[in-house]
Amino acid sequence: MDNNSKTLLDIMAIYTSFKEDKLMGRFICNDQIEPLLRKHQNNFEIEKIGFSVNKEQIHGIKIGSGPTKVLGWSQMHGNESTTTKAIFDLLNVFNLNPSFFSDLWQRITLYIVPILNPDGARLYKRFNYNVIDLNRDAQNLTQPESKLLKSIFDDFKPDFCLNLHGQRTIFSAGAVKKSAILSFLTPSEDAEREITKNREKSMAVIANIASDLKEDIPEHIGRYDDSFNLNCTGDTFQNRGVPTLLFEAGHFPNDYNREETRKLVVKSILSALFSIASGDYLNFTITDYLNIPENEKLFNDIILRNVDLDNQIVDIAIQYSEILNENKIQFTPIINKIAPKIINFGHREIDCTNKKVRFEAMNIPVENDVVNKILLNDQVFML
Ligand SMILES: [Zn+2]
Repeated sequence: MDNNSKTLLDIMAIYTSFKEDKLMGRFICNDQIEPLLRKHQNNFEIEKIGFSVNKEQIHGIKIGSGPTKVLGWSQMHGNESTTTKAIFDLLNVFNLNPSFFSDLWQRITLYIVPILNPDGARLYKRFNYNVIDLNRDAQNLTQPESKLLKSIFDDFKPDFCLNLHGQRTIFSAGAVKKSAILSFLTPSEDAEREITKNREKSMAVIANIASDLKEDIPEHIGRYDDSFNLNCTGDTFQNRGVPTLLFEAGHFPNDYNREETRKLVVKSILSALFSIASGDYLNFTITDYLNIPENEKLFNDIILRNVDLDNQIVDIAIQYSEILNENKIQFTPIINKIAPKIINFGHREIDCTNKKVRFEAMNIPVENDVVNKILLNDQVFML
């Protein structure tokens, strides 16, 4: 085992001692992170860097003084909060044991924007206040949040970028019954999807992360296809010569609050920082990256199998809709598809063979209906 892998294991062994317990669940906005930034104000360089469309503050955090510069940003999509929780766990551990990280900070300077889209975060929406997808605004730069990220990129001049996102529960890591708990991508920098030196570097860092996590989540790491879209931030930054890694925090079985995934994101970011600082990523190849299975959309949250619906046997796929209700995310089960045979896998599957199925307040359910519970014979199943 190399030094970095050993260091990672030592840090993750004490995870509960630095997990930021003020951030839990899926709804994270400035209200939760601003007190934590105040807590850390003497530990790191923390600055107010600008405002969102609806005049929420956007913050930046600078750590270290090394020559290799790493820029990360989270919650560019307001409802993708898992990586933000991971960032605050990392701030705690950096602060808990500074001597442990002193070598890292001599090699690396890390700049992090914990919530780039605070309006979207407050509304629990992907888009910003003007209903623009900031990850499609990298060329036109019509929004203040996109302009701000571009100006940080220009001033800080990163050597690597970490573009931190969250993904839906529908993804599998390959064509198998394994959810994509984490996914990665090194975006293309041109329409030919050429593997340039920069892309090769980011591929190697991703392969290093996948190797560091393979014992935690074997076969649950996927990668996205690299179709080129210069309007996406990652593609633009990569096109400007900076190796860029897209992180997608996904679904760990039964973990809709993404607390397990959060821990794995902490380990992934640490893996990236250590391998960039030491240059260990150079031991990994394009082939190692390409061996990570490509994501497919093979999951639904729930599948009811073999339901007798008016004398027709069907499968019913249900997807949760995430609705913000009094500072909590409510997972509302909605029928996504009714068909004789659904080939997808369910994170939860309920076999209804030869059972009398009754749906709450409806005789024959149809697609887009909300189904909070079903009765199987006389047994109640909450969905
Ligand atoms: Zn996203």
